[in-house]
Amino acid sequence: MACDLCDAAVITRRYGESDIAWIADCEICLVPMIVWREHDAQPAPEIRARLHAELAAVADEEFGPGGWSIDDHMRNIPDHYHAHARPPYFWRAGSAWSVK
Ligand SMILES: [Zn+2]
Ligand SMILES: [Zn+2]
Repeated sequence: MACDLCDAAVITRRYGESDIAWIADCEICLVPMIVWREHDAQPAPEIRARLHAELAAVADEEFGPGGWSIDDHMRNIPDHYHAHARPPYFWRAGSAWSVK
């Protein structure tokens, strides 16, 4: 069974990686996305906190502190934990992208 997140071939620009995750532009949304190295939907709370901290470091660079929010609702790949950093205009655009 193929998983796009395990198969890192889908990534575009890569921001960085750590022992537990990597961060790259989501090829669908074109915003920074952190992907846990485990193929699992439910990281432990301390892992999730680290993932969010790593994403925050990149997103603060890209959008400025407070200029984005974490979106870890996993619409397309629900069984592999990942989180997007979305700038506000994604939400204002509303239906334009939520149909994806
Ligand atoms: Zn996976
Ligand atoms: Zn995306």
